[in-house]
Amino acid sequence: MRIEQDLKLGFKDVLFRPKRSTLKSRSQVDLTRNFTFKHSGRQWSGVPVIAANMDSVGSFDMAKALARHKVMTAVHKHYTVEDWAGFIRDNDASVLNNVMVSTGTSDADFQKTKDIMALSDDLIFICIDIANGYSEHLVEYVERVRAAFPDKVISAGNVVTGDMCEELILAGADIVKVGIGPGSVCTTRVKTGVGYPQLSAIIECGDAAHGLGGQIIGDGGCTCAGDVSKAFGGGADFVMLGGMLAGHEESNGEVIEQDGEMFMKFYGMSSQSAMDKHSGGVANYRAAEGKTVLLPFRGPVENTIQDIMGGVRSTCTYVGAAKLKELTKRTTFIRVREQENNVYG
Ligand code: 5GP
Repeated sequence: MRIEQDLKLGFKDVLFRPKRSTLKSRSQVDLTRNFTFKHSGRQWSGVPVIAANMDSVGSFDMAKALARHKVMTAVHKHYTVEDWAGFIRDNDASVLNNVMVSTGTSDADFQKTKDIMALSDDLIFICIDIANGYSEHLVEYVERVRAAFPDKVISAGNVVTGDMCEELILAGADIVKVGIGPGSVCTTRVKTGVGYPQLSAIIECGDAAHGLGGQIIGDGGCTCAGDVSKAFGGGADFVMLGGMLAGHEESNGEVIEQDGEMFMKFYGMSSQSAMDKHSGGVANYRAAEGKTVLLPFRGPVENTIQDIMGGVRSTCTYVGAAKLKELTKRTTFIRVREQENNVYG
């Protein structure tokens, strides 16, 4: 047994230290980033926020709404190939270039990904997603997908340490998805005791990935726009959001009325709810590692995404970053014991 003594940090452990700035207004801040991806050589330009591939977040409707802001959606893996064909028929490259096709790592998943990708050249992102990215099986699967799709952008995860980030990039991933246990409806840390505070995971994985010319997605744990900024400040190239984008019209969750108020169901992708829906219950060798919550219905996602982008722009003005790309360089975090003032709840 070994104990690592250096303290790992989450979003709640830090704040940005303001810096002198020549920026007059947040309208001067450009959130667009341009990436050229390591293996595929593809270029992409947009706002690097991604709706999570959860079935009450990453829907086709979400993809359409967010693409208007050049924000991405990792479309969940429970749509059929026919569903995809319909979606592709109704949408042009401005939407399709900003979606990720999510997949697990079974042979059936591989075939389905091939069938979906064959539908349109405008689909350029594949998101290979398993809860435990430390499985050797993931590395082999990434190699297989890279061989089959040499010119597509491949994201793989989830991991939280630099060594595994490097291994996935060397296996063919352009982007590594980072986060184990920080999610709003995730119970991995209580069920298994496994995890890594998300800000440190982002800082360490970003460093490792960037050293090899790869990118990372900070996935999970953002509860407010300030957390999204902290993820970018820590070195995330992309930030993935579940809970912050759940509960909206476009989230496509089940709407429930209670005492005259509207709620929307939101659940983890390995919760009892998800497994009942998609796999006929929780297999008896595993435990559910996600929870189910009811969120007050929040209407269209437009206001929320504006709010998030406005918050990140504002962070940039406080530290003098005219472009999102400059935010990490301009970031000094201070360790804190308090965040917001909660006197009014
Ligand atoms: P959030 O933005 O809600 O804090 O986190 C979203 C992320 O939580 C997702 O992108 C995914 O990585 C993770 N997640 C989603 N469902 C589950 C689950 O059932 N269990 C665990 N451990 N993580 C989940």
